[in-house]
Amino acid sequence: MVANTKAKKGRLNMLKKEFKKNRVQSIYTIDLTQIEGDGSFPCPRCGALISPEDETEEVYTIVETKVANDELLELIISCCTCGTTLRVTGFQHIVGLAGE
Ligand SMILES: [Zn+2]
Repeated sequence: MVANTKAKKGRLNMLKKEFKKNRVQSIYTIDLTQIEGDGSFPCPRCGALISPEDETEEVYTIVETKVANDELLELIISCCTCGTTLRVTGFQHIVGLAGE
């Protein structure tokens, strides 16, 4: 009985680890401060050009926005072509450039 319980626990931990790994792999982070130009970038997986200023949602859909003090901090988007989830950060940089 004791051995049985141990085996169960081990398998659960393995599943947890696998879950964590999958989550990390499926989300790419795009830092706009590392991107030159108007802030558009190719999808890391399929290469579709994603522009944060494109609001048609044809290339990507916005999953979640994180705003603090009326400033956009982070955008979670999903590529319409391959379905990859992308985390876009570094918007303050773009806003600063536009103001100059
Ligand atoms: Zn894609």
